[in-house]
Amino acid sequence: MKAWAVVAHGAPLECVELPDPEPAGTDVVVEVTRCGVCHSDLHLWHGGYDLGGGKFLAVKDRGLLLPAAPGHEIVGRVVRFGPDATGVAIGDERVVYPWIGCGQCDRCAAEEDNLCLNQRSPGAIVNGGFARLVKVPPNPAGHLAGG
Ligand SMILES: [Zn+2]
Ligand SMILES: [Zn+2]
Repeated sequence: MKAWAVVAHGAPLECVELPDPEPAGTDVVVEVTRCGVCHSDLHLWHGGYDLGGGKFLAVKDRGLLLPAAPGHEIVGRVVRFGPDATGVAIGDERVVYPWIGCGQCDRCAAEEDNLCLNQRSPGAIVNGGFARLVKVPPNPAGHLAGG
């Protein structure tokens, strides 16, 4: 798939070819129709987060590998899904819930997956909406809103 990706922190995005995401289980893949830009995307582009007091959280230390497509404010049309996905149909246009935890840890069990240390969030940890396709793994919000 084509993706506008960060290939080096602080450098212009480049249009690159990345592997198409393969849905398994209850994963859903959407073809992006719209994607916002927010300051978190600039952190990804810059390479991390200034935590104050001289501390810096590097996105690579959160598991982000380059090249990476930013964009976590995603609307897309469902094009594929895993064999166990329910409540979706090909062609549905949905908003993607991006703050997706591991589903295994205490934070995720407490429905605080935005605080999970092993996130799988599109556009923050894995490829996001600046790519043509986005895989949305299972999450407490049920993948997707709207319908
Ligand atoms: Zn944002
Ligand atoms: Zn977790």
